[in-house]
Amino acid sequence: MLSETNQLLRLSQGHLNLLEACPRKFQHTYLDQLNSPLNPEHEEHQTLGSQFHLLMQQREMGLPIGSFLEADTQLQNWMSGFTNAAPEILTPTDSQTFRESEHYRILQVQDYLLTVVYDLFIADSQQAQILDWKTYPKPQNKRKLEQNWQTRLYLYVLAETSAYLPKNISMTYWFVQSEGKPQSITFNYNLTQHQQTEKELNQLLNKLTNWLEDYQRNQLFPQVPENSKTCNYCHFAAHCARTQASEEYQQNYLPNLANIPEVSL
Ligand code: SF4
Repeated sequence: MLSETNQLLRLSQGHLNLLEACPRKFQHTYLDQLNSPLNPEHEEHQTLGSQFHLLMQQREMGLPIGSFLEADTQLQNWMSGFTNAAPEILTPTDSQTFRESEHYRILQVQDYLLTVVYDLFIADSQQAQILDWKTYPKPQNKRKLEQNWQTRLYLYVLAETSAYLPKNISMTYWFVQSEGKPQSITFNYNLTQHQQTEKELNQLLNKLTNWLEDYQRNQLFPQVPENSKTCNYCHFAAHCARTQASEEYQQNYLPNLANIPEVSL
């Protein structure tokens, strides 16, 4: 839910992604708080994903996790697959000056508090790495992932809240369920990307400020254009009177696990 701290709205990457995909969907979800229909398959996957994140956190803190792994084969497979694929990530080295799981950062931009939580943050005197665990297969489209606000915001906030230069920052996603063997995608960062993100972020937040002011005057957030494909995958299609999209959603929409956000701990 959108939260407010002393008049500053707290926003995560999920808010920004939704706002960019369709402002009306953002309104229905966070301002009107209309409930999404529950999908048992999504829920089950989210729970398992959360448990994996929790285990990775406990492991990083040096707490025992054996009994949890014994109780769930899926978690056991993910954990052993990741341990084999990336042992260097799980083992601290002398050169690392900082390691923390569930590392939280916050940055104020305009009247908003942008919040990020890194699944694992590793830094040394020169470089800083953000690591993120995903419990679905590696997506085909790297460009789409690069444009996702999780990638853009996580890198941006780190550059703004630390002494590391953009060129010394990276973000790596680990997909623990990729064809039986965990696979990763790494995004390196640079000053040009940082400036571009800053521009796009401010543009989006400017729009949000205007839409929120309009909403106070009972004006609705804008919708995506009629016949937009976005509506075909949206559970508010009936609510928005996007009739054709609503029928398509009911008949054809098969859950795509890659669209399910990981649950933050
Ligand atoms: S149905 Fe279409 S216009 Fe309505 S919230 Fe969903 S994506 Fe936006």
